Amino acid sequence: MAFDIDMIKKVYDNLDAKVTAARKVVNKPLTLTEKILYSHLWDGAATTAFERGKSYVDFAPDRVAMQDATAQMALLQFMQAGRPQVAVPSTVHCDHLIQAKEGADKDLATANTQNKEVYDFLSSVSNKYGLGFWKPGAGVIHQVVLENYAFPGGMMIGTDSHTVNAGGLGMVAIGVGGADACDVMAGLAWELKFPKLIGVKLTGKLSGWTSAKDVILKVAGILTVKGGTGAIVEYFGEGANSLSCTGKGTICNMGAEIGATTSIFGYDTKMADYLRGTDRADVASLADAVAHHLTGDEEVYANPELYFDQVIEINLSELEPHINGPFTPDLAWPLSKFAAAVKEGGWPTKLEVGLIGSCTNSSYEDITRAASIAQQAVDKNLQAKAEFTITPGSEQVRYTVDRDGYLKIFENMGGVVLANACGPCIGQWARHGAEKQEKNSIITSFNRNFAKRADGNPNTHSFVASPEIVTAFAIAGDLTFNPMTDTLTNKNGEQVKLDEPKGIELPIKGFAVEDAGFQAPAADGSAVQVLVSETSDRLQLLAPFAAWEGTDIKGLKLLIKAKGKCTTDHISMAGPWLKFRGHLDNISNNMLIGAINFFNEKADTVKNQLTGEYGAVPATQRAYKAAGIGSIVVGDENYGEGSSREHAAMEPRHLGVRAILVKSFARIHETNLKKQGMLALTFANNADYDKIQEDDQIDIIGLTSFAPNTPLSVVLNHKDGSKDEISVNHTYNAQQIEWFKAGGALNIIRASVK
Ligand code: SF4
Repeated sequence: MAFDIDMIKKVYDNLDAKVTAARKVVNKPLTLTEKILYSHLWDGAATTAFERGKSYVDFAPDRVAMQDATAQMALLQFMQAGRPQVAVPSTVHCDHLIQAKEGADKDLATANTQNKEVYDFLSSVSNKYGLGFWKPGAGVIHQVVLENYAFPGGMMIGTDSHTVNAGGLGMVAIGVGGADACDVMAGLAWELKFPKLIGVKLTGKLSGWTSAKDVILKVAGILTVKGGTGAIVEYFGEGANSLSCTGKGTICNMGAEIGATTSIFGYDTKMADYLRGTDRADVASLADAVAHHLTGDEEVYANPELYFDQVIEINLSELEPHINGPFTPDLAWPLSKFAAAVKEGGWPTKLEVGLIGSCTNSSYEDITRAASIAQQAVDKNLQAKAEFTITPGSEQVRYTVDRDGYLKIFENMGGVVLANACGPCIGQWARHGAEKQEKNSIITSFNRNFAKRADGNPNTHSFVASPEIVTAFAIAGDLTFNPMTDTLTNKNGEQVKLDEPKGIELPIKGFAVEDAGFQAPAADGSAVQVLVSETSDRLQLLAPFAAWEGTDIKGLKLLIKAKGKCTTDHISMAGPWLKFRGHLDNISNNMLIGAINFFNEKADTVKNQLTGEYGAVPATQRAYKAAGIGSIVVGDENYGEGSSREHAAMEPRHLGVRAILVKSFARIHETNLKKQGMLALTFANNADYDKIQEDDQIDIIGLTSFAPNTPLSVVLNHKDGSKDEISVNHTYNAQQIEWFKAGGALNIIRASVK
C-alpha cells in the first residue's frame, strides 16, 4: 500500500512546521487533538486561534473509509466529479448488508447472491477510481481500518458513526455523511465546527474482570448519550498508556454513544506494538521519529483543567466491570449493583442470547479473554444456558483465532460463529421467533442497544458489556449472576466458580490470514467499466444537474409549506427506503413524505396547483417536473436537522425543486443544498412565513447580481392577484455562488478536471 506510506510520510514531514505554527497562534501548550486539527487545516497554515464550539473550519483529511450501505451514493456522486482517481486514499468495506442467520458460510453465500448488484458496483467503481475494496466477509470497516490504515496523528473521515474507532491508534477519525466523503475524494475541503475538548485522565491499571470496555461504559454513564456532543474526548495518563491499542479502539469506538465528535489517545508503546504486530513496522518507525508531536504537551496533561473544557478522572485500579442498559448505552450499572437493578427494573432475568464481537470488541485480546471463560465452561462441566454467538471483526482476526484454537473453544461451549460482518449489531439478524415480540433479555459486547436495534423486537432488553462478561453471563443464562462472587451448579451438581479472564494482547505467532478479502484497484482504471444494470431498482448512475439558466427564477409553485420540525428523516425517510439509497429516482419517492403541510396539518398531502387536487408530495412534484415547472419548499426553524444524509438535498434537486425558503437551517443540510446547486434561503423577517399562501406562485429576484452578504427578494404572487415582496437572506460565499451557477459543486470540479 505504497499510496498510504507516502501519504503518512508527507503528514509526518510537515508535522513539525505545522505544530510550530499552531503554537504561535494558540499561544499556549497544545492538546493532542489541537496538534492534529491544526496540522490538517485545508490551506495548510494555522493563521488564527479558532474558537472551540464556534468556529467553522476547513480541513484536509488524509483518507476516507466507507461502508457498503453509505458508499453507494457517495461513489455515484464522486463519479460526477470527472476525476480519474480519488484525491486521497480511500476504501470501501462490505459489512453492513450481510444478514446473520445460519452461520458464517451460508450467510455469506446468501449475501453474495442478494446483494450482487451492489457488490458488483462497489467493486468495479473502486477498481476504476483507485479505491481499496474489501469484499463481503473481509470484516467490519472499523476493525479492518484499525488493522491496515489507521496511523497516529492522521485525520480520517468515514461514512459510519463508528469511524471514531481509529482514535485507538491516535487518529482524529470522524463519522460523516456520504456528501462529505464525496467532497474529500473529489479534492474539496471538509468543514467541521472546531470542537470543544473533554479530557479523560486515566490513572491506575486494569485487572481481573475489568477491561477497556468498562472504561467507556463508565464514561457513558457519566457523560450520557448527549454529553460528548460537539466535543473530542482525549484520553491520557499512565492508565491510558497501560491499555492495549485495541482496548483503546474499543473506548474510542463507543465514544459515538456519548455523541462525541470523536475520541483519541496519544501515541505510545502499545500503539507501536500493534503497528508492528499488524505488519506496519515502517509506520511505527516513522511515528517514533515524531512521537513528541503525537501526544499532548506535558503541561496540558499536568494541569488538564487549564486546557480542556471538561476533565474526568477514572482510576482503573478501582473500576468495576459495568453492564449498560437496557434500551440505552448510558444507563451504566457496576456489576455489583446490576442484579438489584434487574430485579427492581422488572427486566427479564433469564438471559436468552449472549453475543460477542462486532467492530467494538473483536480484537485478538477480546477473543482470548472471552475464550478463557468459555474454556472453563468445558473444564468445569458447565452447560451454557443461553445461546452464544461470535462475530469476528475481520478475516485476519478470525483466521488467527481459529488457527490458535479459540473458535473451537467457543464451539465446544455451544457457540455459533457468524460471518465477519455487522450482522446482529445493525439489526441484520434473522433471530428465530423475534416476530412474536416477546419480552426477553440479551447481552452483547456491541456498542448500541436501542430498542429494536439487534432483532427488530421492541421488547428485547439489550444490555452491553465486555466480551468476557457476556461470555460468563451466557454460561449462567441469568442476568442476576455476578461472576466475581457467585457460583454455578455444574452437570455433576457441584458448585463451581469462574476464574478471572486471561487474555493475550497480540498473537504470539503473529497474525495470519489466507485471503484477507482485499481487492487492490487497477493501476490504470481508465478502461474499467463501472457495473450498473439499467434495470436495477437499487442502483442508478447519476446525470449532472443542469446549470442555472442565468436569469431570475419566476413562476415557482409552492410545493409544501412545512410546519414545525422537519428533519432530514422527514425529508428523506429511512427504514424500508434505505434499500434504494443508490437509486436517486426511486428513493425520491420518499421526498418530504414525513413533513407536515401547514395548510391541512397532514403529512404527504399537498395541493397540486395544476389540478387543484391533493396528493402525495413526490407525485405532486413529479407532475410539476413533467410540466417543466419549478417549485419551492417553505419550512420552519432548524430545517434539515438530524442525520447528514445527502439524499435530503439530492431528492428535491432531482425532482425539480429550485429553492428551500425557511426560518432557519440546520447547517449541514444548508451546505448540502448548496453543494447540489439549490437555493437555500432564509426569511429576513420570520413573520413573512405567514404571508406564504397555498396557491402562491413565487419569483426569486436578484439572482443576476447574486453576491455574498446581499439579500435576495422573493415575490409572492397570490391567487387573488395581490402580491407581497419580501427580503430573504442567504449565507453563500463567492465559491458557493459558483456552485449554484454551475448547477452543483461537482459540476465545477468536473469542469476543472477536463
Ligand atoms: S459492527 Fe455494529 S457498530 Fe460496528 S460498523 Fe457494524 S453496525 Fe456499526
